[in-house]
Amino acid sequence: MKVFKFGGASVNSVERIKNMGTILKQFPGEKIMVVISAMGKTTNALEKVAESFFNGENKIALELFEQVRMQHLNTAKYLLVTHYLDCEKQLKDFFTEAEWLLHGSPVRDFDFYYDQVVCIGELLSTTIISAYLNETGIQNKWIDVRDILHTDNNFRDASIDWNFSRSKVESVIVPLFRDTDKIVTQGFISSTDENESTTLGREGSDYTAAVFANLLAAEQVSIWKDVEAVMNADPKQFSDAKPISELNYAELIEMAFYGAQVIHPKTIKPLQNKNIPLYVKCFLNPSLPGTFIHNHSLKNLPPIIVLKEKQVMLQLKTKDFSFIGEHHLIELNQIFEKLKIKPNLTQNAAISCIAVLDDRPEKIEILSLKAADLFDVQVTKGLTLLTIRHYTPELFEKLSAGKKIILQQQTPETVQVLMY
Ligand code: ASP
Ligand code: MG
Repeated sequence: MKVFKFGGASVNSVERIKNMGTILKQFPGEKIMVVISAMGKTTNALEKVAESFFNGENKIALELFEQVRMQHLNTAKYLLVTHYLDCEKQLKDFFTEAEWLLHGSPVRDFDFYYDQVVCIGELLSTTIISAYLNETGIQNKWIDVRDILHTDNNFRDASIDWNFSRSKVESVIVPLFRDTDKIVTQGFISSTDENESTTLGREGSDYTAAVFANLLAAEQVSIWKDVEAVMNADPKQFSDAKPISELNYAELIEMAFYGAQVIHPKTIKPLQNKNIPLYVKCFLNPSLPGTFIHNHSLKNLPPIIVLKEKQVMLQLKTKDFSFIGEHHLIELNQIFEKLKIKPNLTQNAAISCIAVLDDRPEKIEILSLKAADLFDVQVTKGLTLLTIRHYTPELFEKLSAGKKIILQQQTPETVQVLMY
């Protein structure tokens, strides 16, 4: 059994949905759990719907939702003939549910409504795609993932209830695979025990694929993307970025830690824990090898470069020349946690410490104000943070040439410099 995940970009047009069918046709008779995101930018569009609704602008919310509704109905019309009416009926149930909600007024907090609205994107995309695949001879069963994966009620960033989900996978999914080769379901969304929809955090579909792979003890997971493979640098920043053919989980989690945008960081643990290999594959050209990620040790990894622009350095000095102590750092970390800020680099000295952060002006402002209770605060903006894993002195020279280096941290594996 395999798990395939198709992201929003891989199903953002009629052609791409057809392309997805072509890919699946290459796996006849294989049991595949197919996890799919919302089409294209649907999640962004639904976020706006939820915001308008929560701000009391019901009319705008309904207008914005109407656009999402029409886009999906049009896609279904283009793709389907014999299966259109059944599909339309199922879509209409989701539309009605959403519109009923959007006519009301909010009495709970925003994150709750966000999840109730945004989850529709994946329900619509999978309904259409499942019908299309069945119509073209790729027999599959559609599953509402909210009946299988349950979470706590931490809306927008819910945590999987592994025990409940495991028992549902065993009692529903495993038997279903005896009757069908392919199951189509939604990434990113799930449900509480009270049947309220939840989501797992933006870009969470990768994580859903990993959760299913773990619970089904899958032989492998493939994430189908619009890039040829995991690259050793962002091709938008480095035109000579190269595909990496093989990686392991230890390296992948380090890359995610340093900010390389490869796959959702939460994805790694459920796969690593069960020793399940992961393939990152290109849906535009499935014959490309992509990247094979496993649990074994690897030698001779290429240099991996992460370049973060628009960095802010916060220099914090104790007010009375006292040593930086445990309590300073605990209080500082509490401020970070409250503001949901994760520093990209920190460094402590006797009476000062430094934190390097992404430039989110509103957050930096609150952070500086709060930190000013404890420290003298100095803020420097417009910096660049360069990280190189498996660096060579030559590459380091080349990438930092002509720059002024403010801070440098180095281990045998990794070098990080803050520069401008
Ligand atoms: N549709 C969701 C998002 O855009 C989840 C995902 O694509 O992974 O964040
Ligand atoms: Mg996506």
